[in-house]
Amino acid sequence: MTTSTKATLIDGRVLAPALRARVAREVARLKKEHGLTPGLAVVLAGHDPASEVYVRNKGIATREAGMNSFEFKLPEDISEAEVLAKVRELNADPAVHGFLVQFPVPAQISQQAVIDAIDAVKDADGLHPLNAGRLASGLPAMVPATPEGCLLMAKHAGGDLSGKHAVIIGRSNLVGKPVAQLLLRENCTVTIAHSRSRDLPSIAREADILVAAVGRPGMVRGDWVKPGAIVIDVGINRVPAPEKGEGKTRLAGDVAFDEVAQVAGAITPVPGGVGLMTVACLMRNTVIAACRQNGIDLPADF
Ligand code: NAP
Repeated sequence: MTTSTKATLIDGRVLAPALRARVAREVARLKKEHGLTPGLAVVLAGHDPASEVYVRNKGIATREAGMNSFEFKLPEDISEAEVLAKVRELNADPAVHGFLVQFPVPAQISQQAVIDAIDAVKDADGLHPLNAGRLASGLPAMVPATPEGCLLMAKHAGGDLSGKHAVIIGRSNLVGKPVAQLLLRENCTVTIAHSRSRDLPSIAREADILVAAVGRPGMVRGDWVKPGAIVIDVGINRVPAPEKGEGKTRLAGDVAFDEVAQVAGAITPVPGGVGLMTVACLMRNTVIAACRQNGIDLPADF
């Protein structure tokens, strides 16, 4: 049951469609003025049910934005060499401006070998070490979509973030580290916490912007949050939902929403928050990649 909230909702159901509409307008302009249709390819190896849903949603969003969508479903027992061959094929395909291999991949395939094989200019997920390094060096890079979504949501709630103290719980290459880099670029004072951090609640209470990217449902409690803080919940966890019936589940974030919403100034919900922005930012990344590969300037505010 949801109790009354005090915090402003940073609503992915409003922000993500607006960003996707902006992407679609830019795609229409690229087609009209440059005869260019950006293309995004997604490779899925195996049958992970959550990955199948993500891949389907990415395909729908790509087509809705007016871009070309390519999907490659590979069998569960595919070899690493065959996946790397598919990556090289996509690196060379001029119709594909951005692509990603959906993770997790089956155990016989090295995730890092796949990432390393992707041409950095087509790296739609921004995971290649060149892009991570460029982001850390303050150079133009392909930026991972989820962290970019977090940043856009924090800026929507907080405007100029300069000088604010951001605490990020989680240090993965996919989320925690790039979120930290992006917030540093916005002139935040950044603290990165993780499973070895001591006294996490007091570190979290220092935050003007608190980002939870952990994978532990409801870990961030109301008394971990500074009054008025911006709270960005990246976690997507499937938890039992007996209220919906026996054996039913629901999605939950890393933040105890009902408690934290009484204290925070602004908060993202799960579902309906960062996850929706991730897909929208992936669409935006594809357009950015297509323009960079064709020497086309994008509007400064894109
Ligand atoms: P990950 O690679 O498993 O990283 C989790 C991070 O949380 C690690 O840095 C880990 O610390 C830290 N951690 C784990 N337990 C902790 C604890 N008790 N206290 C403090 N820190 C702890 O996960 P991820 O890929 O970053 O994803 C995090 C969450 O975001 C997951 O729920 C995932 O499903 C979700 N996600 C959502 C989206 C989206 O679109 N919304 C996209 C990607 C991921 P160590 O490094 O010390 O182990």
